Amino acid sequence: MVSTQVSPTAISTNGTVQSSIAEPGRSLYDIAIEQFHLAADILDLDHGWRAILTHCKRELAVNFPVKMDDGSIEVFTGYRVQHNIARGPAKGGLRYHQNVSIDEVRALSMWMTWKCAVVNIPFGGAKGGITVDPKRLSLSELERMTRRFAAEISVLIGPDRDIPAPDVNTTPQIMAWILDTYSMNAGHSVPGVVTGKPVNVGGSVGRNEATGRGVVFAIQEACRRSGFALEGARVVVQGFGNVGSVAARMAAAAGASVVGISDVTGGIYNPKGLDMAAVVHHTAQDGSVRGFTGADAVTNAELLTLPCDILIPAALEKQITEQNADKVTARLIAEAANGPTTPEADTILHDKGVVVLPDIFANAGGVTVSYFEWVQALQAFAWSENEVNSRLQTIMVRAFNDVYEIAQEHNISMRTAALVLAVKRVVDATQTLGIFP
Ligand code: NAD
Repeated sequence: MVSTQVSPTAISTNGTVQSSIAEPGRSLYDIAIEQFHLAADILDLDHGWRAILTHCKRELAVNFPVKMDDGSIEVFTGYRVQHNIARGPAKGGLRYHQNVSIDEVRALSMWMTWKCAVVNIPFGGAKGGITVDPKRLSLSELERMTRRFAAEISVLIGPDRDIPAPDVNTTPQIMAWILDTYSMNAGHSVPGVVTGKPVNVGGSVGRNEATGRGVVFAIQEACRRSGFALEGARVVVQGFGNVGSVAARMAAAAGASVVGISDVTGGIYNPKGLDMAAVVHHTAQDGSVRGFTGADAVTNAELLTLPCDILIPAALEKQITEQNADKVTARLIAEAANGPTTPEADTILHDKGVVVLPDIFANAGGVTVSYFEWVQALQAFAWSENEVNSRLQTIMVRAFNDVYEIAQEHNISMRTAALVLAVKRVVDATQTLGIFP
């Protein structure tokens, strides 16, 4: 047993977080904690370790005013949460979405800790966001909201402390505004304070595509190890944003047949394979996949159960649940999104023999190239795209095999194996550091 000397009096008896602002019902954070305990059981972690790792180290909530274009004032709520910094500065994206809540941000920050540990990059985990539907804001409102939020969370962020990046509905331009706001206050340019920024202000080539590219590297290695060919495999992708669109294009480029795609407006399906160039052209013109003529329209619910070999959920959390897991036809699921599969669905999929490449591994390409971007910023030296992509591939392949060995050794799912690997690395680092004072 790995044990700690933490007093149990400060924490709940089951190692879960007691929060006065938790949502009713089971939150995403409850799911993250459930997943953690499966790994903690295998590692035989005692109560103290569970208590440390099921609490977020720092949580900042900010309520701040923004002047709207019509002269009115709106108050927005945002968060920045750092789950753990034992392995390095905190790292994680910022999400702008109407469903952003403290519990969602906690879960995503915990998954960032595990993700950075799975791919063995020297970061801890953080996440943030604003509860807003950014589509209802003008560009100048979006900029003012972003800059004010950056100023509000500047007490936590910094190139050696906590480095934000894009997530749902946040873009390289938004990262540039955060970089500029932070730099204006510092009095000099601080390019290492965010990643996922545009290349002309110190971003890395290959960062925009990194998460989707990493998903495809993960799938390729999974296919290689399990002896089935990606060439000709039927692929369905939910979500056609930064991650999903790149994953779909790269899977097609690797020889797969992308038969279904969706975004928030609904899905499209062609069992003979979608013409990816035409879909990309259509979405660039119309802003969504809806109305694409070379396919049948399907709902997002139907999309997840379409006949296919590989399913890539690349939208939001809790999409594959006990309601639809049994109807999933894919043999392999690569979680490009964070938290798309509930624990109940995980069990159903495991029993059906479906391999799930878990989010904390499958979508780690983004944070890996964010790490490369941060290193380039600190060194003021830009790498070539080839170097970025080939280092990314090396890390994804190594991480797959690290996780796969643990899964084989303990006869457990790839998710639990990835968590075992990650949690052990975080525990080891904390043990080496010791518990202050
Ligand atoms: P994005 O905003 O660029 O795209 C999100 C896509 O999902 C859009 O196409 C949107 O229309 C679609 N969508 C939203 N709600 C939907 C719904 N209910 N049903 C179907 N589609 C829906 O976001 P992104 O950066 O591509 O992130 C997607 C997922 O990947 C998120 O879970 C995010 O946390 C995760 N992720 C992103 C990165 C990154 O580098 N951007 C890294 C790791 C993980």
